Amino acid sequence: MQLDTLWKFMQVDMEADGFENRMRQSANRQKLIKQRDFLKDQQANMKKLENDVAVMQDRLEALEDEAARLEKELEGLTKTFEENPPANAEDAQKQAEGVAKLLDTLQRYESELAKMRKDADTKDRQQKEIRVRAAKTKMEFDQLKVEYDKEFKADTAKLQEMRAHTEQESKQVEPQLLAKYRSIKQHCTPPMAKLINGQCSGCFMSLPSATLLDIKNGDRIVECDNCGRILYDAGE
Ligand SMILES: [Zn+2]
Repeated sequence: MQLDTLWKFMQVDMEADGFENRMRQSANRQKLIKQRDFLKDQQANMKKLENDVAVMQDRLEALEDEAARLEKELEGLTKTFEENPPANAEDAQKQAEGVAKLLDTLQRYESELAKMRKDADTKDRQQKEIRVRAAKTKMEFDQLKVEYDKEFKADTAKLQEMRAHTEQESKQVEPQLLAKYRSIKQHCTPPMAKLINGQCSGCFMSLPSATLLDIKNGDRIVECDNCGRILYDAGE
């Protein structure tokens, strides 16, 4: 008799749990979570790109300074050459070598600078793309959030109603039995299982005859040895 009441209570309790689970799995909610994660990722990407660009900018400036310095040096060498032409072939050779070395270094700097400017352009483009994508997602997110907030408000009201109904039904159940039900529910839900053909319908284990006898006698609450659910003989 007590178990009949508990079984009846479990139906409304499970219905409320099921509704809450469906709320959590709501398509809009899942989509919002995905969009939020995407926006977070984009923020992280953006930060990384900004860092990269800052480091690159420093290096670019240093290289440009160094290239300017070398150009000045080259100018100086050229001037010396014009004003004091080398007296002999050996001096001429030495000066020419100095100039060649400078030109070589300058060329290396220039090609590195060109590569860095290209990289900077790429990163700049990536930042723009991220900004556009993030802005689009943010707009979608905000729109969906309005819709979801409405849905959530309505569902929450419905859930509260269901929980209130559950609470009402729980008053029909013996407190000790209800406490047992709640403690089983912590690790196993639904916490009750029907006895069908000598089997626990929660975990499908065949129950030993002693257990079956205990259930039949109905003197005490019998739990399944395997899954711990309260066994309920509906007499079907
Ligand atoms: Zn079981």
